[in-house]
Amino acid sequence: MEIHGNASTLWPTPPTETRRRIVLFPMPFQGHITPMLQLANILHVQGFKITIIHTEYNSPNHSNHPHFTFKSISDRFSEITTADLDASYCFKYLNKTCVDPFRNCLAELLEDYSDEEPVSCIITDAGFYFTQAVADALKIPRLVLETSSLGCTVASDILLSLSENPSFTLPKEGDHETLAVEFPPLKVKDVRKGTRDPKGMGELVINMHTQMKASSGIIWNTFIELEEYALETIFQDYQIPSFTLGPFHKYFPASSSSLIEQDRTILSWLDTQAPKSVLYVSFGSVARITELEFQEVAHGLANTSLPFLWVVRPGIVSGSKWLELLPEKFLERVGDKGRVVKWSPQQEVLAHPATGCFWTHNGWNSTLESICEGVPMVCSPCFVDQPVIARYVCNVWKIGVFLEDGFERGGIETAIKRVMMDEEGQEISKRIGRLKEKMNISLEKGGSSHESLKSLVDYILSL
Ligand code: UDP
Repeated sequence: MEIHGNASTLWPTPPTETRRRIVLFPMPFQGHITPMLQLANILHVQGFKITIIHTEYNSPNHSNHPHFTFKSISDRFSEITTADLDASYCFKYLNKTCVDPFRNCLAELLEDYSDEEPVSCIITDAGFYFTQAVADALKIPRLVLETSSLGCTVASDILLSLSENPSFTLPKEGDHETLAVEFPPLKVKDVRKGTRDPKGMGELVINMHTQMKASSGIIWNTFIELEEYALETIFQDYQIPSFTLGPFHKYFPASSSSLIEQDRTILSWLDTQAPKSVLYVSFGSVARITELEFQEVAHGLANTSLPFLWVVRPGIVSGSKWLELLPEKFLERVGDKGRVVKWSPQQEVLAHPATGCFWTHNGWNSTLESICEGVPMVCSPCFVDQPVIARYVCNVWKIGVFLEDGFERGGIETAIKRVMMDEEGQEISKRIGRLKEKMNISLEKGGSSHESLKSLVDYILSL
């Protein structure tokens, strides 16, 4: 990966000598692989040698990272079909199937590198909770990369403790639009949903957070100025070093860790559009919607009459190939005003002057990328951490509009127009612009992320 032109002026000066080796292990999903490879690059610039252990499933493209060593391990993921499986099932499955292959691979690496380039530590995704026991057994420190926000970690701990508390009663249905007393960024309806746990998410969160607490430190892809309110709780609950050196993607040009080929032809179409006129729509790499929701999205987009760029990931509607479920004559109706692609170069799209709004599922990477480019959001969270992130975006930072009633063409049109055409949208734009400035300052010499990276490097060197 090419290094950002400004990186050497913004970030602690890289050392002239080569430092020790770090072994990293990402969860094999786009929203997890991307920040782990970005972190690997950041540490590489700081002089560390990098080895990436990865699963066979969703293997990163080695040729995009010639300066890393890669080791692939078996995961038996091909034995299950991911089409209808939820995140917690996949995470728990990988935490069983990867134990022996990971332990054997790491033990071999520690042996191989022991003389010339001893390994300082391993850094594994928080979702790979089994790796703490392996690290303990092999006597190597483990740091954790938490790929979601501080606020989500706090929220999931609160929701978990509520669902385990026998005297906690679910808030009344009638109050569902009011803010929850237990955790005000959330509404009562979010607490109802979050404490029901139909898919065993609670067990996953307990395992992840228990093993995070047992680790040697947590690395967060966030910056303090964005999440100051959550820091104290994190320091109290997780009494281990925490490093907030994000947003990682600002260290480099648009990243080369995409698992799907990005359609770059739309950049020249964006060049022909007026400043801040285009609505960018993407629901990330995992979320699915129903056929009806898909059609409502299409009608909503067409009805706004605004230019849009819509990422329709093949399979976003279960069983569909690509565009066959679009309403009749949709493409003719929108003409050159609308572009539909399978996958976009998202960071570049958000950074493009023509992009005026991002209709997003609020994955943490997408949310950070939007903040970094000062692009206001319309929020349609699907699952896991996304509903909490969307509440922060709309209720705390006030940089987006929540699509409360799901995918319904009237509500979609109204929400998009509120952001892109109303005075409310101008206020949102100003607020996200101010956050972007704070983020830029955090990256500069003496800024919070800059200092946190220095601390992380010193900490790893001390292990
Ligand atoms: N992304 C992309 N092209 C697209 C849609 C998404 O490159 O068309 C990237 C996006 O920039 C982000 C990642 O995929 O870095 C998605 O991560 P996120 O955490 O937002 O959501 P997830 O896919 O994990 O739900």
